Amino acid sequence: MDHFDIIDGELHSEQVSLEAIAEEVGTPVYVYSAATLSRHARVMKEALASLDDPLVAYAVKANPNPAVLAILAREGLGADIVSIGEYRAARAAGMAPGDILFSGVGKTASEMAEALEGGLLQFNLESVQEAVTLSAVARDLGKTAPVALRINPDVEAGTHAKITTGTADNKFGLPIGDAMDAFAMLRGLPNIDVTGVTVHIGSQLTSLEPLETAFRALGGLIDELRRQDFALRLADLGGGLGVPYGPGQPEPPTPADYGAMVGRVTANWGLRLAFEPGRLISGNAGVLLTRVVRIKPGEHHPWLIVDAAMNDLMRPALYDAYHHIEVVRPGGGRMTVNVVGPVCESGDTFAMAREMDFAGEGELVVFRTAGAYGAAMSSGYNSRPITPEVLVDGDRWALVRQRLDLASAAALPLPEWLHGRH
Ligand SMILES: *Cc1c(COP(=O)(O)O)cnc(C)c1O
Repeated sequence: MDHFDIIDGELHSEQVSLEAIAEEVGTPVYVYSAATLSRHARVMKEALASLDDPLVAYAVKANPNPAVLAILAREGLGADIVSIGEYRAARAAGMAPGDILFSGVGKTASEMAEALEGGLLQFNLESVQEAVTLSAVARDLGKTAPVALRINPDVEAGTHAKITTGTADNKFGLPIGDAMDAFAMLRGLPNIDVTGVTVHIGSQLTSLEPLETAFRALGGLIDELRRQDFALRLADLGGGLGVPYGPGQPEPPTPADYGAMVGRVTANWGLRLAFEPGRLISGNAGVLLTRVVRIKPGEHHPWLIVDAAMNDLMRPALYDAYHHIEVVRPGGGRMTVNVVGPVCESGDTFAMAREMDFAGEGELVVFRTAGAYGAAMSSGYNSRPITPEVLVDGDRWALVRQRLDLASAAALPLPEWLHGRH
């Protein structure tokens, strides 16, 4: 459930008119609903309420806007981070060091050092080589680093290839068959404390089955580690639970069904559990608001050219992703169009042959479910400004990221020898 509804014939975010935001900030612009973010955080926590002290660590990469993080910190969420920039953002938003998990396949020594000094719950390591680096960093700092190894269970997640992370052909984690040897090597490294195990098999999963298969494999490994006297404390089950993207799209399991499955599978583990939801929290809490530039006739369908493009919302170009498109002031008419942006790439296509509410030149439309992996992935391609972001809370709203013009002369220094005309 979200808080984007038609009020008096016009789409609102909570009580705020999207037309008013477009008028003041311009388009394209991302709009987030604080009530929806809070609701999703609570739904996830309620789904896990039968577990003993679970940690819900929001995957910051889905939407790292400081205002979003501040709301989630107030809801008691921790952070799953993949760079030191995300570590700093999570800490600045008020997330406690003890609620932070550091994931990612390429952490550098300097990132490790800063996170270890600042404090965190656990490094989720992806190789023995990474552990060797971390061991040296920790020894230099006179600290002990809490670590888990990420296991690659070789499970097909049933999602898009580019967001599948748990098969043998993906760069992530250690093959589960190599895990016992790897844990034995970790035990021999100075300044390393083996505290956990972790798995994350992909994103936008719409079936519980691959997750359950991966968790059962992890359970088997936990048994073996116990027999070898590893004193594990945390099993981190990753993120990946899908969200509904709109009519005709796969319906993901509910968080409650997910929580029940986790409860069943992990009943005898005797470990604290951590979760890393990203999309589930922020996906349906945001829309990308854009204006129709013009309608160009086409061979099969007209081209609806909007002022948002692949640099603002990359998911359709990158993953062939579906975003539901709605008109801010629907008049009752329908049309079938190809929806595209102004960028000079054929991949700058949001939808082909989409049947949707009629929108004419100058009208506002939104891409729904754009709160995760939307603004976070935006770029300045085609010398377009980085998309601004707005946060709505009840009847008030605020700009939480300015429109950033990276192509401006101030942002791009010209070498002195290229000054002037020669
Ligand atoms: C991206 C990522 C997540 C979040 O995935 P969602 O599908 O957004 O829930 C969680 N954990 C790790 C390690 C990730 O890389």
